[in-house]
Amino acid sequence: MSNNLLTVAYIAASALFILSLGGLADQETARKGNLFGIAGMVIAFTATAWVGVSNYGVLLGAIFPAVVIGAFLASRVAMTSMPELVAILHSFVGAAAVLVGIGNYLQTGQPLLGAEETIHKLEIFIGVFIGAITFTGSIIAFGKLRTLISSKPLMLPARHLLNLSLLIASVVLGVWFMGLESPAGLTPLLAMTAIAALLGIHLVMAIGGADMPVVISMLNSYSGWAAAAAGFMLSNDLLIITGALVGSSGAILSYIMCKAMNRSFFSVILGGFGANAGASAGGGTAIVGEAKPTTVEETVELLTDASSVIIVPGYGMAVAQAQHTVYEITQLLREKGVNVRFGIHPVAGRMPGHMNVLLAEANVPYDEVFELEDINNEFSQADVAYVIGANDVTNPSAKTDPKSPIFGMPILDVEKAKTVLFVKRGMGSGYAGVENELFFRDNTMMLFGDAKKMTDGIREGAVNSHQVSPRFLSSS
Ligand code: NAP
Repeated sequence: MSNNLLTVAYIAASALFILSLGGLADQETARKGNLFGIAGMVIAFTATAWVGVSNYGVLLGAIFPAVVIGAFLASRVAMTSMPELVAILHSFVGAAAVLVGIGNYLQTGQPLLGAEETIHKLEIFIGVFIGAITFTGSIIAFGKLRTLISSKPLMLPARHLLNLSLLIASVVLGVWFMGLESPAGLTPLLAMTAIAALLGIHLVMAIGGADMPVVISMLNSYSGWAAAAAGFMLSNDLLIITGALVGSSGAILSYIMCKAMNRSFFSVILGGFGANAGASAGGGTAIVGEAKPTTVEETVELLTDASSVIIVPGYGMAVAQAQHTVYEITQLLREKGVNVRFGIHPVAGRMPGHMNVLLAEANVPYDEVFELEDINNEFSQADVAYVIGANDVTNPSAKTDPKSPIFGMPILDVEKAKTVLFVKRGMGSGYAGVENELFFRDNTMMLFGDAKKMTDGIREGAVNSHQVSPRFLSSS
């Protein structure tokens, strides 16, 4: 393949990646966006392998097992585990940037001179630095999302000073590294890698559970910059463009997530939200009171008698995989003349867009799904707020309790509905570990049980007691 053809292939792949991002910005075009991304990646991979590889046996030997393992793991992963998968994949990008940087530094060949040499060394040092932070930070994020590590922020004394010292030590090592010839600079390079790895661990350990959405998008951004840095090291324009696209879109997503949680970006990455919270187990003020349990039969009556219902799904619906049945219930209710809509909080579930993906999977039409700012005013006119497996995103302590770890986060105002119906297994708290005083309010009813089992019961009840035609119900 000639250089011209390679350039054309890279331009085509870059354009497809941009179209892919554009497509992924909207639920209706997301599938098309994915296809553009896949096509771009096939072109990028084929073109790069065509020109840059002399031994295809080695390439296949490395790629084939990776493809098999990746395809096997990705096809088995549950929607609820997707954030963990994303986190661990970010760590691979970080590790790749570190290995490419060190390998590139040790590579013998035509020596670079003057400014070119300085720039190349800088690329390596910065690339390895970002890569090491991304690598360990993503592993800690994986551990927190998998609950292998506590989601509470680790609050070391003088933690900001510690971060600053690690940063200064990296800069000093950088100055040392720049003054040495290869391979003598390996010592400061490896020392900085260890320090950056420690920084990555400490930065993410210091972030509280409720702020994990920002961490995931931030690490996504870091992984993009690490890939871009690897692109500079390898003089690969396409990797630079792709890395920059991922890095900047991750940064924009972090900004959007910060806005959704009413946090400043710097206060999130410097960590420690909820550290002063104290009265209850996970933070916030302890609540006393009695919840009012209800039954499936009462719930069916409540929903079919209502004229307006807003459904608020959360992480529990994802765990129970109840989205298909929930949608069937909405169809039954609509047939009875009930106005049913979905209200989605931007950080509901465990990854950005989690609920939108689940509802799209259940074929819920997009015009029935509303974002927080579009639905919040509607709760006061709704008869029922049907909260299924959601908790933190409805918790009024975000508005009223400065001690709460989620204080300041905008919430869905379900409390304004005539009746609030929670479907959950017990009185368990959500990801942020805060009690929810809504459970004890007069207008709240609690339907205790697994979300799938309860929604199955509600669907059956709605079909039986109201003789609604089940013609459109799927076998699920
Ligand atoms: P949540 O606050 O974590 O609450 C989920 C609730 O679902 C729990 O209280 C649990 O109560 C219930 N539940 C669990 N399994 C269930 C099942 N099988 N059936 C019925 N109920 C079940 O969820 P959320 O309201 O969606 O809020 C998301 C939280 O995750 C926020 O704090 C957010 O900051 C955080 N987070 C979000 C992201 C993101 O990007 N979206 C990433 C990381 C963290 P029981 O145990 O009593 O059943």
